[in-house]
Order: sequence, then structure tokens, then C-alpha cells
Amino acid sequence: SLSIGIVGLPNVGKSTLFNALTKNDALAANYPFATIEPNVGVVGVPDPRLEGLAKIYGSAKIIPATMEFVDIAGIVKGASEGQGLGNKFLANIRETNAICQVIRAFEDPDVTHVDGDVAPSRDIETINTELILADLQTIEKALPRLEKEARTKKDKDQLAVLDAVQNAQKILDEGVTLFAGAAKAGIDLALLRELHLLTAKPFLYVFNLDEDELTDEGLKGRLRELVAPAEAIFLDAKIEAELIELPDDEALELLQGMGQEESGLSQLVRIGFDTLGLQTYLTAGPKETRAWTIRKGATAPEAAGVIHTDFQRGFIKAEIVSYDDLIATGSLAEARNQGKVRMEGKDYVMQDGDVVEFRFNV
Ligand code: GDP
Repeated sequence: SLSIGIVGLPNVGKSTLFNALTKNDALAANYPFATIEPNVGVVGVPDPRLEGLAKIYGSAKIIPATMEFVDIAGIVKGASEGQGLGNKFLANIRETNAICQVIRAFEDPDVTHVDGDVAPSRDIETINTELILADLQTIEKALPRLEKEARTKKDKDQLAVLDAVQNAQKILDEGVTLFAGAAKAGIDLALLRELHLLTAKPFLYVFNLDEDELTDEGLKGRLRELVAPAEAIFLDAKIEAELIELPDDEALELLQGMGQEESGLSQLVRIGFDTLGLQTYLTAGPKETRAWTIRKGATAPEAAGVIHTDFQRGFIKAEIVSYDDLIATGSLAEARNQGKVRMEGKDYVMQDGDVVEFRFNV
């Protein structure tokens, strides 16, 4: 499955957050072996619709979609030149599909900051600089080969790749990540894919705040602006670690007392899943209610293929009702009566909240 790498300077709350994520029963439910390796955790993607469906169908169990988080230690100044755990850090991050930067905004005299004081924008810059330098090294290494291939083959695609890489180099030289700058410069990231550049991955940001900062809309607005177009999530990692120890109702009460409707962990997983370019569709029956992971824009046969390749090969049609219509009518039979159930063919693009039954030849 696709993964998000958790990256940040030392002492910003990465481990606290990672441990809370992987120990969270609500998110890791049904996954007793949620920790694959010490630094890799599988978490369930929170989706309140699953319970609604399970009630209608009397499902014996609920299986959420899942995704992986990887706790990646070792970013310090100079990591791109092999300082600290530099090389291991770069290799680990290259394997992930998106980068989640944890940025410290909380003050605590007992927790030292590697650079002396708490300064979110400087820390973001420190991390981005290392990622940018690593990408520039990758590009410098690859350019002679790409230039030679473009010269000798004079192939149109090869020239396009060379052009994209040269433009990427310019952006990176200006200290801008490809995630933030490629679109504006008209660079097609697909042309850079073979280089596995770090800053071309989707980014998201977790700001680890003090409890009283959680409701400071001014501060959050400024931090959000700092990282746009990336998504920003605001939480207090220490409180998140406490929340997972509480029964659901008490946790919700504590959250609401802090002006929050959803835990930071839940937001992180939900927004992270979206950042990975993923969405789900739903199936339900007496045995189980389940969310299946597809990429955004997947067609009905592709969605069927996630359940079984035979479903995709023998796809005939998909019987689909939206979750909202199903809940409003109360049952599939009633949804049918009211004309809310659609038959969709092989070109149908799956929509968020589709509840599906596939028809196929075996
Ligand atoms: P890492 O090095 O980034 O993995 O950071 P840790 O998760 O190990 O946290 C470093 C220290 O900061 C620990 O003593 C944590 O208890 C503390 N810490 C983490 N998050 C918070 C927070 O939100 N507020 C406060 N005050 N301390 C925190």
C-alpha cells in the first residue's frame, strides 16, 4: 500500500505522533499487527460512513481502508551531504509516496530545540533545503546521461525529459521545491518520474502546537499560508497521545473542550490519504462492510480489480447507489424503488461515497 514518510528535525514530536498513530485502536482496528517494522505502521482510514452502512446491512465486521506511515529519523542540517543518518534518511524517504513534515510550534523549556529556539518557518526551510540539495545532486548526476541520450537519439520524448529536468534544476536552484513550484513553471512531473526526486512528492504539514494555540486562528492562518499549496494540520502531539488512552466519549469531550471536532490523528490520516491521490468506494453485506482503496479517477472495472483481478477481467456492470441516498432511503430495496440505484458501465469514473455491487462473468 502507499505510504507517507514522517519527517522533521529532532525533538519536534515525531515519535510521539507516530506512536499515537500506530497505537490508536480506532484507527488501527482489525490490524493486530499494525506495526510491520519498528518504524512502519499501518493505520485504518477513519470513515464514519462505514458504521452507517454496517447498521443497514447488519454486517458482522467493518474493514476500513488502510495506509502506511513511516517514521523517518535523521534529518539534520547537512543530511544531503551524509551528515547524521543522511544517506539512510534519503533512501528511506525515497521509498515513500508522500512527505509529511512535522514542525514544532510548541514552547517547552524542558525540550531543547536543535537550533536554539522555536521558529517554524526556519525549520521548514532547513528541511526543504536538505531535500532540495539532494534533488540537485540527483539531477547533476543524471544530466550528462540525459544530454547524451537527447543528442544521440534526437527522440522527442527524450528531449522533453531533458527540458523538464533542466527547468526543475532552475526551480530548485532558487530554493523552491518541485511540489510548490513545478506547476507554475509548467513542468510536467511525470517527465521527472525516472529520477525519483524527493521534492516532487506531495507534501503535507503537521504543526505541533501548544494546547492554547489550537484555537489561535491568526497563528494557524499564518502557518497555513507558509506551506500552501500543501495541506496543514494543527495538533498537540502530547494531547493526541493522551486521547488514545481514553474511551471514545471522553476523548470527544476533551476535544470539544479544546474547540476541536476531530482528533489531529484522524485529520492526519484522512488528509494524508487524500494527499496520496487516493479515494475509497464501499461494499456492504451481512458478512462485512468494507472500504476499498482506489486512485482518484479510477473507472468501475479498475475498482472491481481491487477486489479481484477476475472481477476486472469479467466486468459487466456495477450497481451503484450513493451512500447519502442509501442512508436517506434506509435500504437498498427502498433505494431501488425510488430509482436511486444506477447501473454503470465500464467507462464510469468512481465517485466518493459510491456503494457498489459488481456484476461480472467468471
Ligand atoms: P522526535 O525527536 O521528533 O521524535 O520527538 P519526540 O516525539 O521524541 O519528542 C521529544 C520531546 O518533546 C519528548 O519529551 C516529548 O514528550 C515532547 N513533546 C512532543 N510533543 C510535544 C508537545 O506537543 N508539547 C510538549 N510540551 N512537548 C512535546
